[in-house]
Amino acid sequence: MEQVMPKEMPEKEIIRCHNVNKWFGKLHVLKDVNLSIKKGEVLVILGPSGSGKSTFIRTINGLEDIQQGDIVIDEITLSHDIKHIEAIRKETGMVFQQFNLFPHMTILKNITLAPIWVRKKPKKEAEKEALELLERVGIPEQANKYPGQLSGGQQQRVAIARALAMQPEIMLFDEPTSALDPEMIKEVLDVMKELAKSGMTMLVVTHEMGFAREVADRIVLFDNGEIVETGTPEALFDNPQHDRTKLFLSQIL
Ligand code: ADP
Ligand code: MG
Repeated sequence: MEQVMPKEMPEKEIIRCHNVNKWFGKLHVLKDVNLSIKKGEVLVILGPSGSGKSTFIRTINGLEDIQQGDIVIDEITLSHDIKHIEAIRKETGMVFQQFNLFPHMTILKNITLAPIWVRKKPKKEAEKEALELLERVGIPEQANKYPGQLSGGQQQRVAIARALAMQPEIMLFDEPTSALDPEMIKEVLDVMKELAKSGMTMLVVTHEMGFAREVADRIVLFDNGEIVETGTPEALFDNPQHDRTKLFLSQIL
């Protein structure tokens, strides 16, 4: 008889945060944060304003340094110094609340700039890939326009395409729909949903509870620089264990 091999490989942890501590001067903003994320996992980060969510995801791609602990991304250690920062940056793509597109460049230029200059991709190839990415985020017809000619939702989809053009292993989203008019939120969340389905590892700070419930594999609740509670969407929303989680949910839902 042919032996049946187990289908699932042991799941690889692509991000490991161990006792991460960060201070801004005397302000202790990340307190012993321990968190591991598996390849392909979608993690939603919830928490009140000022709880350290942005600071946390910014540490993942080295936009913020840390004073204690370790962050290991795809086996590359990002410690207190900025050693390996370039290697880490190649692993991660980031999408911000404010889309941060270059206003004086066309959409196509915005997307191809880094692949051409950082990755040394031939221009033709970079442009072909950029057009495919614009197709993927649903706005192939906008390639030759400037950011100011696009709606907020379209600009945020360009920002996602631009991050994807660097072929990151991990995508970080910091409140990607918070600056959008309500009617544009769905088009951005739909692109993120598609990305999640495609197997991308994602860390998403958001207040969109529908997205969190539907798309997240796991949710963490930050409060005051600490992870208060971690769980599946069902566990966290329907059966929160901690008073601080209950309080947060009662304020937001
Ligand atoms: P969140 O994203 O959850 O709203 P942040 O990570 O932005 O929280 O901020 C956490 C804490 O760190 C807040 O008290 C904030 O005021 C402070 N903070 C954030 N960035 C800086 C900075 N560059 N310098 C000093 N304090 C900062
Ligand atoms: Mg924030």
